[in-house]
Amino acid sequence: MGLYSEMLEKEKIIKNLEDSKKVIIIVCPGCACDSIAYSLDYPDRRVEPSGDMAQDAVAINMVKKEWEEELEKQGKTVGYFWISDPCKLTDFECEDLRRETENYDTVAVLGCPSACAGIHRAIKDSKKKIVPMMKVVGSYVFHMKPDEKNENFYIDKEASYVKLFNK
Ligand code: SF4
Repeated sequence: MGLYSEMLEKEKIIKNLEDSKKVIIIVCPGCACDSIAYSLDYPDRRVEPSGDMAQDAVAINMVKKEWEEELEKQGKTVGYFWISDPCKLTDFECEDLRRETENYDTVAVLGCPSACAGIHRAIKDSKKKIVPMMKVVGSYVFHMKPDEKNENFYIDKEASYVKLFNK
Protein backbone atom coordinates (compact mmCIF):
# COMPACT_ATOMS: atom_id res chain seq x y z
CA MET A 1 0.00 0.00 0.00
CA GLY A 2 1.36 3.43 -0.90
CA LEU A 3 0.39 6.90 -2.02
CA TYR A 4 -0.46 7.09 -5.69
CA SER A 5 0.92 10.24 -7.31
CA GLU A 6 0.81 11.57 -10.84
CA MET A 7 3.02 14.08 -12.57
CA LEU A 8 1.66 17.62 -12.57
CA GLU A 9 0.94 19.07 -16.00
CA LYS A 10 4.20 19.73 -17.85
CA GLU A 11 3.20 23.33 -18.69
CA LYS A 12 2.52 24.04 -15.03
CA ILE A 13 5.93 22.77 -13.92
CA ILE A 14 7.66 24.73 -16.68
CA LYS A 15 5.76 27.87 -15.72
CA ASN A 16 6.73 27.45 -12.05
CA LEU A 17 10.38 27.09 -13.06
CA GLU A 18 10.28 30.01 -15.47
CA ASP A 19 12.43 32.34 -13.37
CA SER A 20 14.75 29.67 -12.00
CA LYS A 21 18.31 29.56 -13.26
CA LYS A 22 19.80 26.74 -11.20
CA VAL A 23 17.47 23.86 -10.48
CA ILE A 24 18.21 20.76 -8.43
CA ILE A 25 15.77 17.88 -8.83
CA ILE A 26 15.25 15.90 -5.63
CA VAL A 27 14.23 12.37 -6.52
CA CYS A 28 12.21 10.02 -4.29
CA PRO A 29 12.71 6.38 -5.26
CA GLY A 30 9.74 5.22 -3.12
CA CYS A 31 6.04 5.25 -3.99
CA ALA A 32 6.69 8.09 -6.47
CA CYS A 33 8.66 5.62 -8.60
CA ASP A 34 5.94 2.95 -8.47
CA SER A 35 3.29 5.55 -9.29
CA ILE A 36 5.16 6.73 -12.38
CA ALA A 37 5.70 3.14 -13.53
CA TYR A 38 1.95 2.59 -13.28
CA SER A 39 0.75 5.86 -14.83
CA LEU A 40 3.31 6.03 -17.67
CA ASP A 41 3.76 2.28 -18.27
CA TYR A 42 7.47 2.53 -17.57
CA PRO A 43 9.56 -0.31 -16.13
CA ASP A 44 9.45 0.15 -12.35
CA ARG A 45 12.51 -1.38 -10.71
CA ARG A 46 15.41 -3.65 -11.46
CA VAL A 47 14.79 -7.29 -10.66
CA GLU A 48 18.30 -7.60 -9.22
CA PRO A 49 18.88 -4.43 -7.17
CA SER A 50 22.39 -2.99 -7.45
CA GLY A 51 22.10 -0.92 -4.29
CA ASP A 52 22.34 2.27 -6.38
CA MET A 53 19.00 4.12 -6.11
CA ALA A 54 19.46 5.79 -9.50
CA GLN A 55 19.91 2.45 -11.25
CA ASP A 56 17.31 0.52 -9.31
CA ALA A 57 14.38 2.99 -9.36
CA VAL A 58 14.08 2.77 -13.14
CA ALA A 59 10.79 4.61 -13.72
CA ILE A 60 11.55 7.76 -11.77
CA ASN A 61 15.10 7.82 -13.12
CA MET A 62 13.65 7.92 -16.65
CA VAL A 63 11.45 10.88 -15.73
CA LYS A 64 14.35 12.60 -13.96
CA LYS A 65 16.43 12.30 -17.15
CA GLU A 66 13.59 13.65 -19.30
CA TRP A 67 13.30 16.71 -17.06
CA GLU A 68 17.05 17.23 -16.90
CA GLU A 69 17.11 17.38 -20.70
CA GLU A 70 14.07 19.63 -20.86
CA LEU A 71 15.45 22.16 -18.39
CA GLU A 72 18.96 22.10 -19.85
CA LYS A 73 17.39 22.82 -23.25
CA GLN A 74 15.95 25.95 -21.64
CA GLY A 75 19.45 27.05 -20.61
CA LYS A 76 19.13 26.23 -16.91
CA THR A 77 21.82 24.61 -14.80
CA VAL A 78 20.39 21.31 -13.58
CA GLY A 79 21.51 18.99 -10.82
CA TYR A 80 19.86 16.18 -8.95
CA PHE A 81 19.97 14.41 -5.63
CA TRP A 82 18.42 11.10 -4.64
CA ILE A 83 17.03 10.73 -1.18
CA SER A 84 15.22 7.76 0.22
CA ASP A 85 11.84 8.66 1.78
CA PRO A 86 12.05 12.48 1.79
CA CYS A 87 8.78 12.33 3.76
CA LYS A 88 10.75 10.99 6.74
CA LEU A 89 14.01 12.91 6.74
CA THR A 90 16.40 12.42 9.61
CA ASP A 91 18.44 15.36 10.91
CA PHE A 92 21.42 13.84 9.16
CA GLU A 93 19.56 13.72 5.84
CA CYS A 94 18.36 17.31 6.33
CA GLU A 95 21.98 18.30 6.64
CA ASP A 96 22.79 16.42 3.41
CA LEU A 97 19.96 18.23 1.66
CA ARG A 98 21.13 21.63 2.81
CA ARG A 99 24.61 20.89 1.53
CA GLU A 100 23.48 19.42 -1.82
CA THR A 101 21.06 22.26 -2.58
CA GLU A 102 23.43 25.03 -1.55
CA ASN A 103 24.36 26.22 -5.06
CA TYR A 104 20.85 26.18 -6.53
CA ASP A 105 18.09 28.77 -6.44
CA THR A 106 15.29 26.23 -6.90
CA VAL A 107 14.48 22.76 -5.65
CA ALA A 108 12.15 20.76 -7.91
CA VAL A 109 10.62 17.74 -6.23
CA LEU A 110 10.01 14.43 -7.97
CA GLY A 111 7.99 13.09 -5.08
CA CYS A 112 4.66 13.65 -3.38
CA PRO A 113 3.65 16.74 -1.31
CA SER A 114 5.01 15.01 1.82
CA ALA A 115 8.40 15.08 0.14
CA CYS A 116 7.95 18.82 -0.47
CA ALA A 117 7.01 19.30 3.20
CA GLY A 118 10.06 17.37 4.39
CA ILE A 119 12.35 19.31 2.07
CA HIS A 120 10.78 22.59 3.13
CA ARG A 121 11.50 21.75 6.76
CA ALA A 122 15.13 20.98 5.89
CA ILE A 123 15.88 24.10 3.84
CA LYS A 124 13.32 26.63 5.05
CA ASP A 125 15.97 29.11 6.16
CA SER A 126 17.52 29.26 2.69
CA LYS A 127 14.59 31.02 0.94
CA LYS A 128 14.98 28.72 -2.05
CA LYS A 129 11.97 28.15 -4.24
CA ILE A 130 10.44 24.68 -3.93
CA VAL A 131 8.56 23.47 -7.00
CA PRO A 132 6.43 20.33 -6.75
CA MET A 133 6.38 18.07 -9.81
CA MET A 134 3.82 15.52 -8.61
CA LYS A 135 0.45 15.45 -6.88
CA VAL A 136 -1.14 12.70 -4.79
CA VAL A 137 -4.37 11.46 -6.32
CA GLY A 138 -5.01 8.22 -4.47
CA SER A 139 -3.54 5.14 -2.87
CA TYR A 140 -2.41 1.84 -4.34
CA VAL A 141 -1.68 -1.80 -3.88
CA PHE A 142 0.73 -2.84 -6.63
CA HIS A 143 1.88 -6.24 -7.76
CA MET A 144 4.89 -6.52 -10.00
CA LYS A 145 5.92 -8.88 -12.75
CA PRO A 146 9.33 -9.22 -14.40
CA ASP A 147 9.82 -8.42 -18.08
CA GLU A 148 10.78 -11.13 -20.57
CA LYS A 149 14.51 -10.65 -19.99
CA ASN A 150 14.02 -10.70 -16.22
CA GLU A 151 15.77 -7.31 -16.01
CA ASN A 152 13.04 -5.02 -14.73
CA PHE A 153 9.79 -5.35 -12.86
CA TYR A 154 6.67 -3.81 -14.37
CA ILE A 155 3.46 -3.12 -12.46
CA ASP A 156 1.05 -5.94 -13.14
CA LYS A 157 -2.00 -3.79 -13.76
CA GLU A 158 -4.47 -6.66 -13.72
CA ALA A 159 -3.35 -7.73 -10.26
CA SER A 160 -2.94 -4.20 -8.89
CA TYR A 161 -5.39 -1.76 -7.38
CA VAL A 162 -5.51 2.03 -7.41
CA LYS A 163 -8.09 3.87 -5.34
CA LEU A 164 -8.44 7.47 -6.53
CA PHE A 165 -9.51 9.99 -3.88
CA ASN A 166 -12.10 11.61 -6.15
CA LYS A 167 -13.88 8.39 -7.14
S1 SF4 B 1 8.05 11.20 -0.09
FE1 SF4 B 1 5.98 10.70 -0.78
S2 SF4 B 1 6.35 9.52 -2.65
FE2 SF4 B 1 8.26 9.49 -1.50
S3 SF4 B 1 8.17 7.64 -0.20
FE3 SF4 B 1 7.38 9.36 1.02
S4 SF4 B 1 5.15 9.24 0.75
FE4 SF4 B 1 6.09 8.05 -0.94
